[in-house]
Amino acid sequence: MSTELLNISIEKTKSSKINELDWDNLPFGRVFSDHMFVMDYKDGQWENPTITPFADLTMSPATSILHYGQTFFEGMKATKSENGDILLFRPEENAKRFNLSAERMCMPEVPVEMFIEALRTLLNVDKDWVPAKEGFSLYIRPFMIAMDPYVGIRPSDTYKFIIFTCPVGAYYSEPVPVKIETKYSRAVEGGTGYAKAGGNYAGSLYPAMKGQKEGFRQLIWTDAKEHKYIEEAGTMNVLFVIDGKIITPASSDTILSGITRRSVVDIARDWGYEVEERKVSVEEVITAIKENRLTEAFGAGTAATIAQISAISFEGTTYELPAVEGREFSNKVLTYLTDYKHGKVEDKFNWILKA
Ligand SMILES: *Cc1c(COP(=O)(O)O)cnc(C)c1O
Repeated sequence: MSTELLNISIEKTKSSKINELDWDNLPFGRVFSDHMFVMDYKDGQWENPTITPFADLTMSPATSILHYGQTFFEGMKATKSENGDILLFRPEENAKRFNLSAERMCMPEVPVEMFIEALRTLLNVDKDWVPAKEGFSLYIRPFMIAMDPYVGIRPSDTYKFIIFTCPVGAYYSEPVPVKIETKYSRAVEGGTGYAKAGGNYAGSLYPAMKGQKEGFRQLIWTDAKEHKYIEEAGTMNVLFVIDGKIITPASSDTILSGITRRSVVDIARDWGYEVEERKVSVEEVITAIKENRLTEAFGAGTAATIAQISAISFEGTTYELPAVEGREFSNKVLTYLTDYKHGKVEDKFNWILKA
């Protein structure tokens, strides 16, 4: 890969914050590495790719992003292998999804090679921030914002593409009780559900807060038309093991196509499991729970990799699910994926890129 592609100018910080880091008390998403990547879109092209010390942005109060939410993001992680290599897990998939989001939000694409080069350069500048500790990783947040200082609804002519990173601790996720949401909707057919567009998350805060007041840590969204089919959780796709088969809602324009879910499906098929990606009705899941045919239920996403679901609530009844210790597939796939991301098992699917 040519480093000439972008010709990134690099201004390094004179006062690294790395020695202030308390690895034992790392709050998720609040500690930022020394540098960030910033590139501007103007006159129909990307220009000024720079790596600078992490700092606040300044902008006019009229800036388009602040009013109309023309923005989207990505989320991914880097890890450090035992021999010190910085490893990325399927970053091209994030780059491709970044551009799917860009298209839907009427924003400019970042060519995949540019995206990867920006990412690799930033990670190498901040390589000391990629944790080598077991279970730790560097969370990466690429995003784009509309920058025109103009009060009027139309696609902006100028944008910023930014990447910053946060070291994050061992993400132990306790099994979570979830509620199947049958009143509010996250996404509708023809809408923006398949894009990681900011507004999707803003709109889900209110129903999620109501769910939390009832004691549910996550919502499972259902289709907006009939509320009969399971879609996904807030930032995770969902999978079930029923009658020994892995069953998961297929990607659609109302479901975000998670890279973790797709990886779990590929691994399951490789291990000889039967996998069904299709519409999954709420009724099918509840019936399987009642008949003891559902043995596992979990979310899949970059933050936790696998988040076990302890109980499912539907129309006021809460159904407790089988104990997590006995969940053979999800426990096995979590260990395998964690090892895979740290370079501890063979890269048989060709998913690892060294930064
Ligand atoms: C990011 C996200 C996911 C998970 O995607 P991964 O690529 O696995 O991290 C699932 N659903 C929603 C709504 C998301 O925003």
